[in-house]
Amino acid sequence: MNTLPTPLASPVLRQQAEAQWQAITQKSPEVETNLAQIDIQSLLHELQVHQIELELQNEELRRARDALDASRTRYVDLYDLAPVGYCSVSESGLLVQANLTLATLLGVTRSTLARQPPFSNFVMQPDQDSWYMLRTQAFRTGQPQTGEMRMRQSSGGGIGTVVWVQLSVTVAQDDARRRVLRIAISDITERKQAEAKLKLAASVFACAREGIIITDAKATILDVNLAFTRITGYSHDEVIGQNPRILKSDRQNVAFYDAMWYGLTAQGHWSGEIWNHGKNGRVYAELLTISAVRDALGITQQYVGLFSDITAIKDHQNQLEHIAHFDALTNLPNRVLLADRLQQAMAQALRRGTQLAVVYLDLDGFKAVNDNQGHGVGDRVLITLARRMKESLREGDTLARLGGDEFVAVLSDLENSADCLPLVMRLQAAAAQLIQVGEVCLQISASLGVTFYPQERDMDADQLLRQADQAMYQAKLAGKNRYHVFDSAQDSHLRIHHESLAHISRALVHGEFVLYYQPKVNMRTGKVIGAEALIRWQHPYKGLLAPAAFLPVIEDHALAVALGEWVIDTALTQIGRWHVAGLDMPISVNIGARQLQQGDFVDRLKALLAAHPLVSPASLELEVLETSALQDMAQVSQVIEDCAQIGVMFALDDFGTGYSSLTYLKQLHVTLLKIDQSFVCNMLDDPDDLAILQGVISLAAAFKRQVIAEGVETVAHGTLLLQMGCELAQGYGIARPMLPDLLPEWAAHWQPDDAWRRMPWFVT
Ligand code: C2E
Ligand code: MG
Ligand code: MG
Repeated sequence: MNTLPTPLASPVLRQQAEAQWQAITQKSPEVETNLAQIDIQSLLHELQVHQIELELQNEELRRARDALDASRTRYVDLYDLAPVGYCSVSESGLLVQANLTLATLLGVTRSTLARQPPFSNFVMQPDQDSWYMLRTQAFRTGQPQTGEMRMRQSSGGGIGTVVWVQLSVTVAQDDARRRVLRIAISDITERKQAEAKLKLAASVFACAREGIIITDAKATILDVNLAFTRITGYSHDEVIGQNPRILKSDRQNVAFYDAMWYGLTAQGHWSGEIWNHGKNGRVYAELLTISAVRDALGITQQYVGLFSDITAIKDHQNQLEHIAHFDALTNLPNRVLLADRLQQAMAQALRRGTQLAVVYLDLDGFKAVNDNQGHGVGDRVLITLARRMKESLREGDTLARLGGDEFVAVLSDLENSADCLPLVMRLQAAAAQLIQVGEVCLQISASLGVTFYPQERDMDADQLLRQADQAMYQAKLAGKNRYHVFDSAQDSHLRIHHESLAHISRALVHGEFVLYYQPKVNMRTGKVIGAEALIRWQHPYKGLLAPAAFLPVIEDHALAVALGEWVIDTALTQIGRWHVAGLDMPISVNIGARQLQQGDFVDRLKALLAAHPLVSPASLELEVLETSALQDMAQVSQVIEDCAQIGVMFALDDFGTGYSSLTYLKQLHVTLLKIDQSFVCNMLDDPDDLAILQGVISLAAAFKRQVIAEGVETVAHGTLLLQMGCELAQGYGIARPMLPDLLPEWAAHWQPDDAWRRMPWFVT
C-alpha cells in the first residue's frame, strides 16, 4: 500500500472516483464472485480509483491553467493598452520594463525599451535634476512621489516633440526581490498648454495698456484690469457689481447707445470712439471695442470691453484739423473749409428756399503796404482787417481767407438778393477803416464781387466762386473800392465761347469734322457745274452739327484758320478722288473772313495746292461772304487777284446781304455772285425780295459776272429764276448736301425738271 500514490486531499474527488469504480464493478458481476482474489481485487480497486482520481485532478489543473492564461492575457492587454504609461525603473535608473502606451508616448518601439535604456534618456535637459530628485527621494523614503516634467518624444532621430508628463512613483520589489520604481506616466501636454494660455491671458489682462472690463450678460461688471483703474480712476473693488454706465458722459445721445447695442446684439461686437468720464470728472476719449462672449448655443454669457485712452490723439487730431482748415495768420477758415461751408450753405438754401450770396473780396493796394511797410506791418493789417470784417457780418456767415489779400464771405439765409447789400457795404466799410499799426496809420480799401445762389442754371461751389471772382475783377476794373454784382448773361457768353473752343480744337485733332457736298447745277441744260463743300461736325454725343453751331465760336480765333485749311485740303483730296473715278467736279469752299485776311493766305493756299499736284487749281473755287469781303476791300481785292493768277476763282457769297457798293463790286474780280437764299426763299411771295433778286441779276449781268441762286427749294423757284435769267442754282429743290460717296451716283442720274427744260431762252 505504501507504494500507492498519496490519496487525494479532496474528498469530493475521492467520492467521484469511488462512484465511478462502483459503476464499473456493478456492470461486471463475475468480478464479485471470485472471492479468492479479494485482496488483489481491493488493491486493484484502490489503484483504479486512484487513477481516476488523478485524471480528474489533471483535468482540474488544466482548466485552472487555462483560466490563468486567459487572465494573464487580459492583464497584459490591459496593462499594455492602459491610458497611462507604466514602467519599472531599476535602482540604477534603467527602464527595465514598460507598457505599450509608454512606448507610444515616447515615440519608440518596444524593442528599444527592451534594451533597458536609462530612463533619464527621455527626460528633457532642464528637468534632469527634477527626475534625479524624485527618484532619489522615492528610494530613500520608500514613499510614493509625484512630479511633472518634460520628456522628449523621439521622432526618427530628430530632437523630437516635447511631451509634458506627470509621474506617480511607488517603490516595489521585482521578482528577484530587488527594489524598483513602478511609475505611472500620464500625458499632460494639453493641460499644460491650456495653463500656459490661461497664464498668458491672465498676464495680458493684468499688464495690458488697454483697459479691460468684463461684464456678465446683464452688463454687470465682473472684473476690470489695472489699466482700467489707471484710465478711469475707479479701483477694482469700486466697480465690481456696477454697470459700466457709471462712466457715461453726456457727449453721446441715446441713438448712439442704441446703435452700439444693436451692433453687439446683431454682430456680436461693436467698436468706435466714445467719450466717457472718469472718477474725478475728467472727460476722456476712448477707442472701445466690445465683444460678446457666447456659449455653444450662441447665448451671450459675458461682454468683454477693451479700450484705450485716445484723448491725446484726439487733441492732436483737432489741432491738425484746425491747421488744415484755418488760416494760420488770421485764424479765419481757409479755402478747404470754405468749400465745405459753401456746399453746406448751398444745400441749406435749396432746402429752406432762401438765397445765399458769395462775396469775393480783394484788398486794393495791399501789395504797396507790404512793399513799403514790410511784411510785418502787412500781416498786422491783414489780422486787423480780418477781425473787423468778421465782426461786420452776422453770426452764421462765413468769412474765409483764400490767401494773400483775398477773402470770401458766404452770406446765407437771405430772403432775396437785395438783403445782402447792407452786409456787403458793411464789409466794404470795415475794409476801409483806418488801421493803426505802431506808429503807422494806414487806410486801404477793398473791391468786392457778389454772386447769388441758386441760379437758373445748376451751379457748383467752384462755379460760384469763379463768378464772384469775375465780378470782383469787374469791380477792380470799374475803379476799385466798390462792389460789382455778377452778370450771368455776360458770363454765359464767355463761358460757352470758351468751352466750345476747346471742344472744337479737340474735334479737329480727332477728325470729327466731315464735308458734305451740295451740287450746283444749270437748271436749263441739266449740267452739274460743281458742288459746294459744307462743313459738318460729327459730334460723338450730339450727332451731326451744322456749321452755325460751331463756326461763330471760332470766328475770331486762330482755330478758324486751321479748320479752314483742313476744309481746303479735304476738298482738294476729294476732287482728286472723283477725278480718279472719272468725275470732274469743281468744288467751291467757303472761306471765313479771318482766314482770308491772313497775310500769307495766298502762299498757304499755294502750299495746299502743291500738296495735290494732280488737282487743277481751276477746280477749286473760293466763296467769300460779301460782308467780310467789304471789310478790307483793298486786301481782299489783292487776294482775289493773286488767286486768279494761280487759277483759283472767287465767288461772293450771300450777295445782297452786305453793304454793297457798286464801286467795290467793280474792283473785286470775282467770277460769281451767289444770291443769298433769303431773297430766293421769299421771292414767290414777297415782291420786294423779287425786286432785289431782279436787281442783283441785272447787276451781275452789267458787271459781267455769273450769278447763281442758292436756296432753290421748289420747281417754282427755279422756274421763276430761269424766267429772270438766272440759270445756275443750288438748293434743296435740286439736292441736299450729301456725303461725297453719294454724289457721283446722284450726278449721273440727275435730270432738271421738265418745266425748266421747257422754259424759253431768256435774253437779257
Ligand atoms: P452758305 O455758304 O451760304 O451755304 C449754304 C447754306 O444753305 C448751307 O447751310 C446749305 O445747307 C443751305 N442750303 C442749301 N440749299 C438750301 C435750301 O434750299 N434751303 C435752305 N433753307 N437752305 C439751303 P449750311 O451747310 O448750314 O452752311 C451754312 C453756312 O455755314 C454756309 O452758308 C457758310 O457760310 C458756312 N459754312 C459752311 N461750311 C463752311 C466751311 O467749310 N467754311 C466756312 N468758313 N464756312 C462754312
Ligand atoms: Mg457758301
Ligand atoms: Mg450762301
